[in-house]
Amino acid sequence: MAKGNINVQAENIFPIIKQFLYSDQEIFLRELVSNAVDACRKLQALSSLGEAKGALGELQVEVIADKEANTLTIRDNGLGMTGEEIEKYIAQIAFSGAEEFVQKYEDKADGIIGHFGLGFFSAFMVADKVEVFSKSYKEDTSGARWICEGSTDYDLDDEVKETRGTDIILHISDDAKDYLEQNKVSELLNKYCKFLPIEVKFGTKEETLPAAEVKEGEEAPEPETITVDNVINNPTPAWTKAPADLEDVDYKSFYRELYPMSFEEPLFHIHLNVDFPFNLTGVLYFPKLSHNMEVQKNKIQLYCNQVFVTDQCEGIVPDFLTLLHGVIDSPDIPLNVSRSYLQADQNVKKISSHITKKVADKLKQLATKERADFEKKWDDIKVFIEFGLLSDDKFADKAKKFMLYKNVKEEFFLIDEYLEKIKATQENKEKKTVILYTHDATAHHAAIVKAEERGYDVLVLDTSLSSHMVNKLEQSLTDVTFARIDSDTIDKLISRDEEIPSKLSKEEEEKLKPVIEGIVNSGTYQVQFESLSETDAPIQITQSEFMRRMMEMQKVGGQGGMMGNMPESYNLVVNSNHPLVGKILNESDTAVQSKLAKQTADLALLSVGLLKGKDLTDFVNRSIEIIE
Ligand code: ADP
Ligand code: MG
Repeated sequence: MAKGNINVQAENIFPIIKQFLYSDQEIFLRELVSNAVDACRKLQALSSLGEAKGALGELQVEVIADKEANTLTIRDNGLGMTGEEIEKYIAQIAFSGAEEFVQKYEDKADGIIGHFGLGFFSAFMVADKVEVFSKSYKEDTSGARWICEGSTDYDLDDEVKETRGTDIILHISDDAKDYLEQNKVSELLNKYCKFLPIEVKFGTKEETLPAAEVKEGEEAPEPETITVDNVINNPTPAWTKAPADLEDVDYKSFYRELYPMSFEEPLFHIHLNVDFPFNLTGVLYFPKLSHNMEVQKNKIQLYCNQVFVTDQCEGIVPDFLTLLHGVIDSPDIPLNVSRSYLQADQNVKKISSHITKKVADKLKQLATKERADFEKKWDDIKVFIEFGLLSDDKFADKAKKFMLYKNVKEEFFLIDEYLEKIKATQENKEKKTVILYTHDATAHHAAIVKAEERGYDVLVLDTSLSSHMVNKLEQSLTDVTFARIDSDTIDKLISRDEEIPSKLSKEEEEKLKPVIEGIVNSGTYQVQFESLSETDAPIQITQSEFMRRMMEMQKVGGQGGMMGNMPESYNLVVNSNHPLVGKILNESDTAVQSKLAKQTADLALLSVGLLKGKDLTDFVNRSIEIIE
């Protein structure tokens, strides 16, 4: 048996790296600036260990776009490299100096970004020649220049460099000239480098000095402007600080920093701070949701050691959390990889479930400790919570402690509190507690009044997810069912043993039935008789709870399946004990009888908002005739 060694030809691999490793050409800038930041952080670490002598000065990264020279330079005054180090770290693809550093200086190397030893070569996606001009922090080193034109050959020469640190000089290729434009570079720095931990400078900017006090009678002088470094980043964003050091206003101003174009204030924030079993920091915000939830998505920004990675967080945070805003930062999130890789990553999965837990904990805390405030914000956050409750069982479990239910009197309850409240009054003969609800208290006014007369309470469940919610709750709560207030006549909603005797005989009902059927659309309305209280309406319209829920869920689910295409169908319930019904039955003039029946049925339709168009016009005219 022969043993072999797979021989990788660098000249073959090189183009592959350039083309396929990075989904996005523009991230070259992120990679090079992060290397420069790493160089500064490493120097800080070495200095704190006494390995780098002397004062470090102010550590800074600078990006310089020179259109005339056709170069983009990334400059730092970090630890620098000797000629040998350039050969070792730069010229060896997939040898990461960062990884090596982290292994060597374990506890001092927090926050080093590099990892795979591939970032540097992304430079060749936009440059056909790259120079590395560097001087190490080590004493008695001069400097070195490395030049490579994108093949496997390079030149390396000693060359005097006065100052410590590294210039990475990109000779921008013809098809990437965009990266020499002020605006383009600004945009990229703002996207990827806005919160890097070392100052990043790009050109200069004018700043107006605060106006001096003007004495009375004197003319105000022209405001003075000065030229200052244009520092594009905030090296210490809120999430890197301890929650104890931050006030509510700090979180709000950080929100504006993240979303300068947003005018709404967030409702509240969650500061994430975990170091076990993985590292994760961040600040998440509950935004005030607008009607268009889609617009709100993709607002969470994912960072790795303060380097922006992506704002496409689907699959990384649970779907319902993509509605949140804010920042998540974890060194455990792999930086230079594609999204699909990210989604499959085990760390990313753990992070996702952890965030869910944190969000649930915060909601519970608010619901317990700041209940009044929480109730005020409830209408803004309930969709989000319903969404979470439906899509995540663990979240649903925790939601019992913060999911609020509002009744028509605008009182709020946790589910346990609510069941306690209605247990005595709303138990049916099967010993189930019936939760009555409406999606529209105005439309259901008549039925709600009847319910309240009997001492029942009515909840308002009015979001597009309510039917799904109700189904889910029925599954998770024992001996509880939900009934929308219009799904049956009031005494059937919560059925009792006692039956009211009917004033009509079977024969009389059979006689009246065709009369009623003759005046309504029989395809839509199923006529039936019920023995109700005399004080209940003579005719009522109900819609089966089951059918309606199925249809609603199909609508939300989007698939226009069998149920979705079914016509609306209602019950038209005739109260056999109402005096008016007796009167209609006994009317001998069929024209008058039909008119009476029509008027009564229309009133029922009217009270639930189903009388429309020509039917409504006819009803109005007929009513006027009757009054005249
Ligand atoms: P990584 O950052 O993942 O280690 P890179 O390909 O981005 O891989 O960089 C390779 C190595 O080159 C770095 O680890 C570092 O040792 C060295 N290097 C790159 N840029 C600089 C720089 N500006 N200053 C000092 N060292 C650098
Ligand atoms: Mg790197």
